Amino acid sequence: PGPDRPGAGVYPGRMRPTSFSPAAGSPVLVLLETDADGAPAPRLADPAVPHLSVTDQGVTRGDGIFETALAVADGLGTLRMRKLGAHLGRLAASAAALQLAAPEAAAWEAAVALGLRAFSEANDVAPGDRLAVRLTVTRGPDAAAGGVPAPTAWALLSPAPAIQDEERQRGLRVLLLDRGIDSQAPERSPWLLTGAKTLSYAVNMAALRHARDHGADDVVFTSADGYLLEGPTSTVLIVRTGEDGVRRLLTPLRQKGILAGTSQAVIFAAAHADGWELGYGPLVPADLQGAEGVWLVSSVRGVLPVRAVDGVEIPVDHELTGMLQAHLDADGDPGRHVSGDPVPTAG
Ligand code: PLP
Repeated sequence: PGPDRPGAGVYPGRMRPTSFSPAAGSPVLVLLETDADGAPAPRLADPAVPHLSVTDQGVTRGDGIFETALAVADGLGTLRMRKLGAHLGRLAASAAALQLAAPEAAAWEAAVALGLRAFSEANDVAPGDRLAVRLTVTRGPDAAAGGVPAPTAWALLSPAPAIQDEERQRGLRVLLLDRGIDSQAPERSPWLLTGAKTLSYAVNMAALRHARDHGADDVVFTSADGYLLEGPTSTVLIVRTGEDGVRRLLTPLRQKGILAGTSQAVIFAAAHADGWELGYGPLVPADLQGAEGVWLVSSVRGVLPVRAVDGVEIPVDHELTGMLQAHLDADGDPGRHVSGDPVPTAG
């Protein structure tokens, strides 16, 4: 066995390996452990060997939460997290929704810093290099199956491809797919966890496969009562000129049952500072057809224009795509836009 061994990761009472050095080009895994006093003690571990119990409820029930953030190397080749605070804020909100005792922000910050340092030491990082930083917390091993019932938490840092210019030029063909629940359901049935980023993404992945089987690239979910929601892994943005002649940057109303996007929040804050009028829906499919542009945005893939909805072509505005991506790349403070709560706008 190597310096790290299967199963030795996250369970109290096992012998801990002393250290692990990641190999060049490989993902970096940091386990969020605590010391005897309960203080954060993040530890590098081998991502190529198992660390989870087969009874872990993250695996057996999809009972857990995650975040996918982006780190980008600056001009000196130093890896820097993008909007980590917003991701940790959303992780805490997801944890509260699931009544999950997730590690505190300081523990994640220490783990991510350790992971970035280890990746930089193992690789020649060039300016612009990107890492997807995935933070995961599960409910942990099932006590009924003999496990120690404590949450399992880790950060996995993986090299991410450069932004796909070709995909961005071409644009996405999306299908509108009914998520099957009405827009009142999130309020009526909070156990649906629509606003939490849970591990239960099998439905989202099935929707993406359905789209690909039908000649499309991606999906925009709608509620059963006909409101626009979000993509399976993205937030919808729309630019549209209203009947009052004012051009606005719009996103669906979060209260209809979507995740608060951190990319949307950063872009909205920057656009607001730039003088744009903002709007938070509610939006319906007809709003896509009359739009000057529609985009799917998320932390790692960035800003991608939509070029067709259910087979009907819509305009693609490369200048607006560039502006929105520049707002995201500027990585400003998402401020009050992070919650997705409506900001007062004229009209
Ligand atoms: N909506 C859903 C359902 C998502 O899974 C994601 C990200 O994966 C987003 C929106 C976009 O969120 P963010 O911009 O914070 O990456």
